[in-house]
Amino acid sequence: MNMQDVIIIGGGPAGSTAASFLAKHGHSVTILEKERFPREHVGESLLPFCYKTFDALGVLDEMKRLFVRKPTVRFATIDGKQSTNWCFNAVIPDESFLSFQVDRKVFDTMLLDNSRKLGVDVHEQTKVTDVKFDTEQDKVVVSATGPNGEKQTYEGRFLIDASGRSTFLASKNNWRTSNVGFERTAVWTHFIDVKNMIGGLEEGSSLIVYLGGNKRGWIWVFPLERDRITAGVVVDSFYLRDKKRELQEAGSENWQRDFFFNELNESPFVREIIDGAEMMMDVIVEGDYSYNSNVKHGPRYALIGDASRFIDPIFSSGIFLSTKSAWLVADALHEMLSSGDLNNNQPLLKAYEYINGAYNFVYRLITLFYNPHTISFAEAATFFNEYSDHQHAMAAGHFILSGDFFENHKKYHEFLDVLEAPRNFQRYKNVVMDRKKSNIESCNLKPEERSIIFPKKSLRMAEQLQKVTS
Ligand SMILES: Cc1cc2nc3c(=O)[nH]c(=O)nc-3n(C[C@H](O)[C@H](O)[C@H](O)COP(=O)(O)OP(=O)(O)OC[C@H]3O[C@@H](n4cnc5c(N)ncnc54)[C@H](O)[C@@H]3O)c2cc1C
Repeated sequence: MNMQDVIIIGGGPAGSTAASFLAKHGHSVTILEKERFPREHVGESLLPFCYKTFDALGVLDEMKRLFVRKPTVRFATIDGKQSTNWCFNAVIPDESFLSFQVDRKVFDTMLLDNSRKLGVDVHEQTKVTDVKFDTEQDKVVVSATGPNGEKQTYEGRFLIDASGRSTFLASKNNWRTSNVGFERTAVWTHFIDVKNMIGGLEEGSSLIVYLGGNKRGWIWVFPLERDRITAGVVVDSFYLRDKKRELQEAGSENWQRDFFFNELNESPFVREIIDGAEMMMDVIVEGDYSYNSNVKHGPRYALIGDASRFIDPIFSSGIFLSTKSAWLVADALHEMLSSGDLNNNQPLLKAYEYINGAYNFVYRLITLFYNPHTISFAEAATFFNEYSDHQHAMAAGHFILSGDFFENHKKYHEFLDVLEAPRNFQRYKNVVMDRKKSNIESCNLKPEERSIIFPKKSLRMAEQLQKVTS
């Protein structure tokens, strides 16, 4: 059996990104992935700060060819009357302000194929069942079940757990703790033949509708093609449980679907978008979040992406957090493997300083989102319109929503300190933005930018997959 430098559990964005960077550094890497790709996955809207990672991975041109470009995220109230459009071109001067909306089947397959091209040994339909750290021989022994149920064994010098919300190591070792107060469940699907691409969708925007009260949640609508959207509703899990009971008692034959449409239809704005559109698949329910693994790394292992922590996805930060962490950990491991001293974990400690800083920052931001008396991302524009326009204060908000929270998390924590203190917050209100600039539907794209929002040919999924896998 060949001893690999690194074995990775999971071929999602975190696992494939770490593998690709390690392979680029010349290390031998094996990915063990339990599913056969392409597989369905939620999480389709990406932050502009992902751009550098895609460029370094060598997939940027493919992304431009395949996916819708996203110039902004627009937070709206349920009636759609108040909204704030956080156009990324307010602070990002180059083309990276146009981020991406991706079909995860296609996106995840593209990243995994890229790993293969870079020399990574990828085994799909291979489920990791056990891991043993052999301290005497300085190796990790991984047991797995292959495509035909056969038992397999792999050996490596280091293990990365990128198993997503299955949290392989954290669950096995009882490291996982739930974030009390953040119990949420999402119900989602894709629609095709969408006739009313409105409210910014026609310009590639992400649309987030805040749901207050005991729902404590939000609706997302993102465009995936010129006439296809992903739409989902996230609510407090206790609220969902009550609604499930009510619907079942009323004789609902598919309570998930009935719940989903009841919630979407409560927003006149979203109702108009899905009116006449067709569901592409039955609704999918995603529970089980948010949580944190108390242990992130140790001798001969590291946890990345959702396997290490999952934060409510309201700010579309998951892929960025996962892939950027994967890159940082891959670089740290490269340093350790090259030095020949895997016991010197200084590079990993440094990487996790940034990683934990970024996750903690986003967690804090989400706490603010669910306490809209502190700051409402939807009402900011109208609320502050009587005040004069000062770019700097607002720019911080734009940078945060673009993803500038790894290297700069300390700076933005200070910014949130200011927002959270009532007197300072009052001052902040006094200096932030005007209505004309932010309570708008369009980011006023230049014609050449507008022309690339949707891929030239509206590709249906099958065609996309063929292109990705050919
Ligand atoms: C409702 C919802 C909405 C979201 N919206 C967004 C969004 O708009 N934008 C965004 O950026 N993020 C979003 N996210 C988050 C995003 O989906 C995740 O952060 C991202 O997928 C994490 O990537 P990952 O590689 O860590 O995990 P995953 O993508 O889940 O990959 C993990 C892989 O590990 C494999 N695996 C698991 N166990 C084993 C095992 N024992 N052996 C072998 N393989 C195994 C799985 O099959 C899977 O392929 C959302 C999440 C949710 C729940």
